[in-house]
Order: sequence, then C-alpha cells, then structure tokens
Amino acid sequence: MIGLPKRILRKIDEEAKASGIPRSDIVARIVYEYYKENLGPALSHFNVYEDHVTIKDEDLERYVDVQVKGGRLYCTYDETESCGHVDYAWQIDRVQDMIRRGDIKKRGS
Ligand SMILES: [Zn+2]
Repeated sequence: MIGLPKRILRKIDEEAKASGIPRSDIVARIVYEYYKENLGPALSHFNVYEDHVTIKDEDLERYVDVQVKGGRLYCTYDETESCGHVDYAWQIDRVQDMIRRGDIKKRGS
C-alpha cells in the first residue's frame, strides 16, 4: 500500500474485515467513486431511433442499446427495464417527446 497513514490503513482493514471485501477492492471502489465524481457522468447519448436509443458508456467503454419495446424501455446490455442506462434514456429530450406522443409509457404509469 503506497504511503497511506497507518490510521487510514487500519480503517480500511476494519472495513475489509467487517465486510469480507478484499482491501484492494475497497481501495479500488474509493478511487472509482472519486473519479466518477470528478470526470462527470459516464453516460452520454449517442443517437435516438424510433425503436431504440444508443448510449455511450465511458465506464464500460462501449455503446449500449436501450430498446423501445412494447412502449417501454429495455436495456439490451443489462437485460432489464431498470438500470442506469434506462434511467438515463428517460431523461433524453427526444425520448420525452416520444412519451408525450404516447409512443412510450413511463414506468409505473
Ligand atoms: Zn443497462
């Protein structure tokens, strides 16, 4: 472990012991959270089509398609209607327009 004060290392070790998560994973998660905050959101909208939305995910380093399926949004990567990609897709202006036109139903409505 590079140059961290002992009291911080002890704290990390306590957390590792209590959670059963390896110390290196805890440190990696803290670094991830820090950079996620500082680099801004990982998701950006690439394109909106009639039947799907393509989202660029910088963390995954790939494009993810969210399908408009039966009036709902479905993430083909996570295979679910509830993930960060779907949540992001709902916020896109053109998707909001599709909701207004009745092409998509907002979850739970
Ligand atoms: Zn997803």
